[in-house]
Amino acid sequence: MKKAVIIGGNQGGLNMARCLSEAGFSVEVFEKKEKKDVAYDWTDDINPEVFATMGIDMPPEGTYYPKKAWTFVSPSEKVKITVRGGAQKNDISIYRRDLNDYLFSLAEGKAEIHYGTEAEKLLFDGNKVTGIKALGKEIHSDIVVDCSGAFSPFRESAADKTGMKKQPEKDELFVVYRGFFKAEKEAEKPEATNKVYLRHGGSEGISWCIYNEEENNVDVLIGRIGELDERERDKAFMLLEKDNPILSDVKEKEWVKAVIPVTHPGLRIVGDGYVLCGDSAFMTIPVMGSGIVCSLECGEILKKVLTENDDCSLKNLWKYQVEFYNRYASFFGVDFFKRWLLKVDVEDVDYLFESGIADEKMLAEGAGGETMKLGLSDLIKKAWKGRNRAGLLLQIAEVLRKSALAESIAKEIPTEYDEKKIGVWQTKLERIYR
Ligand SMILES: Cc1cc2nc3c(=O)[nH]c(=O)nc-3n(C[C@H](O)[C@H](O)[C@H](O)COP(=O)(O)OP(=O)(O)OC[C@H]3O[C@@H](n4cnc5c(N)ncnc54)[C@H](O)[C@@H]3O)c2cc1C
Repeated sequence: MKKAVIIGGNQGGLNMARCLSEAGFSVEVFEKKEKKDVAYDWTDDINPEVFATMGIDMPPEGTYYPKKAWTFVSPSEKVKITVRGGAQKNDISIYRRDLNDYLFSLAEGKAEIHYGTEAEKLLFDGNKVTGIKALGKEIHSDIVVDCSGAFSPFRESAADKTGMKKQPEKDELFVVYRGFFKAEKEAEKPEATNKVYLRHGGSEGISWCIYNEEENNVDVLIGRIGELDERERDKAFMLLEKDNPILSDVKEKEWVKAVIPVTHPGLRIVGDGYVLCGDSAFMTIPVMGSGIVCSLECGEILKKVLTENDDCSLKNLWKYQVEFYNRYASFFGVDFFKRWLLKVDVEDVDYLFESGIADEKMLAEGAGGETMKLGLSDLIKKAWKGRNRAGLLLQIAEVLRKSALAESIAKEIPTEYDEKKIGVWQTKLERIYR
């Protein structure tokens, strides 16, 4: 029986454990935290179709509820658009700890899961990854799946041999504070319960303010690209208080600081005997940083590849990257547009909202990870309410053209492993971002 070692036991690692066991591998998982500390103590939004895609039941009832519609707020706060349709229409909000318990219950008995056990380093034979060092000994395996998150030191140590990106750039990181506050007793219940503020307070980032009627609390997230300190966070919190009378300053849960990768998927996510999964491969929707679905789905993809052929060489594992790109090439387009949206003057973002260009459909597409496909003539038709901003319209049309191009080049990924062809494809894709 072939052996798989998985580093990291959060959503990606736990699901990968079940998948690789079902592909016929003996599986060992190493998670550095204790079981109770792995998942955050809050709910997150996911598309529940992922469970059907993976061929497993929905998590138990009571662990999730239908997600409420997002309302997107323009930087000036003058325009608010509620998105009821689109890819996120059927999303659920799921308790993370319950999701992990569910994934654990499916993996238990199929894989040996070591909590409180840190993987120390990868073992190599030439360019091939042959296992890890953990528990003070060498643990050999046919494949190592790296589910250790965005800052994987393992990916970094393998970068020179695999061509993988060592670490994300500062502008590819979304630094967030998330906290929970009591709902203000006297305040009227808001009509828009889940608000996202784009370029909040003129910043390079977003904030959200979610009123949970069931729990009678308010979930606040303040996120900025690159860095965010407590002063900046508190300033943004005060702005949220002004627009949300339901938000009190009585804390229910302490602020948690976290970092989410918000960039396109890695250009190399496989090596010889080595695979990246979830955040370690930067598989999040680049706008909001949602990554749970992809971190789960890539387990199903690797299972399929290794069930057909259990060869763990780079040549065979390349099929995993191809399949992921076939499903999620649109993340490249979304990432391109998001980079523009964060850098452009906030007045221009306001114009998008005030002119009618940013409408329910466009916002649903971006947040759901789909590339927006609009030409200049569509933009002109949509911007009927707008002042005359021909220069900006041309600029937006160009950004949308390049976003669509990024997606289509990502889709041109060579289907068979061929270093020369892959190099040409990768250069073409990188050129778009330069
Ligand atoms: C505030 C916030 C809100 C979010 N909201 C959403 C949302 O609504 N929807 C959504 O889909 N996604 C959301 N995300 C993103 C989501 O959390 C991640 O995309 C997802 O959890 C990725 O899972 P993962 O298993 O790939 O990696 P991670 O969650 O990063 O897990 C990596 C695991 O590896 C372990 N590890 C690291 N190093 C080692 C080592 N040396 N040895 C052993 N173990 C190690 C870590 O302890 C950790 O448990 C949010 C993230 C944050 C921070």
